[in-house]
Amino acid sequence: MATEFLEMPDKDGYFGEYGGQIIPPPLIEIMNEINDAYDKVVQTEAFQNELHELYADYVGRPSPIYFARRLTAHVGGARIYLKREDLNHTGAHKINHCLGEALLAKYMGKTKVLAETGAGQHGVALATACALVGIECEIHMGEIDIEKEHPNVTKMKILGCTLVPVSRGTRTLKDAVDSAFEEYLKDPVNYFYAIGSVVGPHPFPKIVRDFQSIVGKEAREQFLAREQKLPDVLVACVGGGSNAIGLFTAFINDESVKMIGVEPAGKGLNTTDHAATMTLGSKGAIHGFKCYNLQDQEGNPLPVYSIASGLDYPGVGPQHCYLKDIRRVEYKTIDDKECLDAFMLLSRKEGIIPALESAHAVAYAMKIAKDMSSDETILVNLSGRGDKDADFVTEHLSL
Ligand SMILES: *Cc1c(COP(=O)(O)O)cnc(C)c1O
Repeated sequence: MATEFLEMPDKDGYFGEYGGQIIPPPLIEIMNEINDAYDKVVQTEAFQNELHELYADYVGRPSPIYFARRLTAHVGGARIYLKREDLNHTGAHKINHCLGEALLAKYMGKTKVLAETGAGQHGVALATACALVGIECEIHMGEIDIEKEHPNVTKMKILGCTLVPVSRGTRTLKDAVDSAFEEYLKDPVNYFYAIGSVVGPHPFPKIVRDFQSIVGKEAREQFLAREQKLPDVLVACVGGGSNAIGLFTAFINDESVKMIGVEPAGKGLNTTDHAATMTLGSKGAIHGFKCYNLQDQEGNPLPVYSIASGLDYPGVGPQHCYLKDIRRVEYKTIDDKECLDAFMLLSRKEGIIPALESAHAVAYAMKIAKDMSSDETILVNLSGRGDKDADFVTEHLSL
């Protein structure tokens, strides 16, 4: 098993039958150039030194692992640890790959970094990275999302990116993707499209995974130093899958370590209001790659929903699909109510307000901890902090 995973994807960008480049030939050429630059530039000492210096002095890495003593006592059973990605500058794991992508764009001599954003989390992380690296940044965002996500919109403006409101169609993420992509196609040689998770055409699932793998590398060392053994179970939430693959990669050859990805069951798997792509999806293509998809009979993406806006994506990273099929990772679901319970419990037992995305992982850890012994351990990737969700939760629960 050892090298097999490290050599993935294959040269065409496939993880088993998933991934690839389902895009027009001229774009394949551009993607292959990015792949070549990635292989050449990112492995150099200069790039790695610059990136790791920024991880340390700017992001605040390594993020600690924390033993959640009071949460564990409350739940009973296995001891629950948290990898504190919520303590990163900008408050989530996304800065890890946004910094890598912005630096890569700069090393490649690109003139502008482009992306879409839904709730604005990817937009803020990318605008931050571009401000730091000193490269122009343009973010496309649906008008409805702009109205809903006021704090993130203000942050992006302050950070100096160009915010393009999208007024067509649904005026949400779906049309923002199309709008940003059209702009990208005007000059793909000089522009860089920064994808926000381990999705999209090859080489992005690989690039974003590699930048995020710092999370698992640190966590493995930290956990061994502290417990003199590896965790029994890893748990992470899965939207596109970047924080999960970031944690899992360093442990993938440790056969004793069980890994669980948690998807949003939303208002229930028997409703249409969920985003349980791995659990209920079928194989198909979306946004330039093959993966499990929530799609209609014609292969069009279905509307998806989660209380955590970072998890409502109708596709999922190709490597996750492969890991599911070979059963190296199990994919489970948590619904809105379980997520909110975990959000409140972690806040009140530990003084840590988690992102609603991360609360899905916490909720699943609580569910399985009960049936495990106190000799056993669970390591949860706390992918982000919940400041962004605080107003919504107080209103929703009438606190
Ligand atoms: C965006 C986001 C996620 C979901 O993205 P992945 O690529 O699946 O990690 C999870 N947690 C937080 C805090 C996020 O902002």
